[in-house]
Amino acid sequence: MALSRAEIEKIIERWIGPLNYYPPPPDHGDLPYNEWPEVRARAAKRRELFGFNPLNEYFEGADGHHIDKINVVYIPRKLHQSIRHSQKKPHSMIRINRAAMKWIERNNIPILAAKKPLPL
Ligand SMILES: [Zn+2]
Repeated sequence: MALSRAEIEKIIERWIGPLNYYPPPPDHGDLPYNEWPEVRARAAKRRELFGFNPLNEYFEGADGHHIDKINVVYIPRKLHQSIRHSQKKPHSMIRINRAAMKWIERNNIPILAAKKPLPL
């Protein structure tokens, strides 16, 4: 009889203790997420690869989301992380951009000038 995933995990935990699927998050004390060194490095890399033209004002708890290779909208982190997306997967960009635009419209966020996206 095949064991269920839960049963297998229970057996392994008896052998080696609790399973850790993810490494523990880094401890940066009270430093806000946006200022964690690894987060800043990732953002800097992204600005290098992509352009960075914000379409709305930053606000506390916002993530900058690239709707294309240049233009960025600030949306709540929870919304941003609710839809996995990648510029390499256009269908995922359509999904997150639709959600981002809905949020912007619903909240009457003023939009600044967009720049023409770079050719892909
Ligand atoms: Zn994004």
